[in-house]
Amino acid sequence: MKIKVRRFHPRFDPPSIDMEYEVPDGLVLLEALDLIKSQRDRSLTYRSMCRSGVCGSCAVRVNGKEVLACEYKVQHGDYVEPLSVVDVIRDLVTDKSKALTTLARAKAYPLDMAQVQMSEEDIKLIERQSDCILCTSCYSSCPVYEEKPAFLGPFALTRVYRYVADKREQAKKEHIDEVIEDGIWDCTLCGNCTEVCPQGIDPKNDILMLQSWAAKFGHFNPNMSSFGSFGLEF
Ligand code: SF4
Ligand code: SF4
Repeated sequence: MKIKVRRFHPRFDPPSIDMEYEVPDGLVLLEALDLIKSQRDRSLTYRSMCRSGVCGSCAVRVNGKEVLACEYKVQHGDYVEPLSVVDVIRDLVTDKSKALTTLARAKAYPLDMAQVQMSEEDIKLIERQSDCILCTSCYSSCPVYEEKPAFLGPFALTRVYRYVADKREQAKKEHIDEVIEDGIWDCTLCGNCTEVCPQGIDPKNDILMLQSWAAKFGHFNPNMSSFGSFGLEF
């Protein structure tokens, strides 16, 4: 079968070209890329590490949708591209550093943790968000991040919700205050991030939960101001 890979190199003219490769049936994408590199084109550049869906380093787009190359089974005619909305360094390797700075900007870390006994139910509330592998697929799929690079974005907001929902965290209001500007109200709740997350995390729902916490602390959705008050009580 044949697949196409979008190749990029700043010194190419034009810098981006599509190249077609023949690969055998039954491979996952990372195996196909390995085979192309070892037997056909040593210049093909991509990133991988754990090869088992744990590190998130091999995230790319196939036919416009974000996948982990180590998990995706190749189909005839697939079109493989780097993640979107980030700078491409070369071929399928992107610069994730801008997206990762959102964690610091959103203060997505513990602020004031008390020593409190956690029940199994308490842990269940925050364990899924803790599984994020920072693959940045959710940023690549996010239409708001594409239009507005200052948007804090899905995984940073999910990580903030992880602390807001944590029974031990005492600084819930401080967390919420940090994600008002360029944060929770900018999200359109389109659900793309939830759809592409390889870890089954639901950033859309976590952002919705942050919005309810924000209303509880007296913040109101600026996009709703023209509709007046709904008399919400918490
Ligand atoms: S739900 Fe919000 S954060 Fe997720 S992709 Fe859509 S706009 Fe972006
Ligand atoms: S939330 Fe999911 S898609 Fe986003 S970086 Fe974490 S693991 Fe990847």
